[in-house]
Amino acid sequence: MEHKFLLDGMLGSLTRWLRLLGYDTIYLKNENDHKLIEIAESEDRILLTRDELLVKIAKKKGIKSYYITKNNDKEALNDVVSEYNMIFNTEKIRCPICNSFLKNTDKNNIKNMIPEKVFNKFYEFWICDGCKKIYWKGTHWPKILTTINNAIENKNNK
Ligand SMILES: [Zn+2]
Repeated sequence: MEHKFLLDGMLGSLTRWLRLLGYDTIYLKNENDHKLIEIAESEDRILLTRDELLVKIAKKKGIKSYYITKNNDKEALNDVVSEYNMIFNTEKIRCPICNSFLKNTDKNNIKNMIPEKVFNKFYEFWICDGCKKIYWKGTHWPKILTTINNAIENKNNK
């Protein structure tokens, strides 16, 4: 079964990476420990946190939980990808903002929703099923791919 995640506190950026990899990930910034554990349990999510005590409490209750020790997002991503033997699920990329699936869309359908420059320059577009944000493989994309590929390679070399 595919892993699902629940992230807390300062892990907003790691949340976005896990969604890009294709994993169902929710992020709760201001929830108390009790609530976090309750949601992880009821939705069968792995709790990722920088709170070591919370990890201990969760594990005692039989909740899958992982203590994020790295401050650097990319290093934290590497750790999580290795720990849970994750892959880059390109068919299931999720919106980094809202966790919904991205769908390929014909660019003529979204012409009015993107700058003309972008319309003329790019061919492949995706629209988020949830928040309707439009995505394309812009100048950031090679960097994003490098980070993801590094995390997967790092896992394979362990
Ligand atoms: Zn979205």
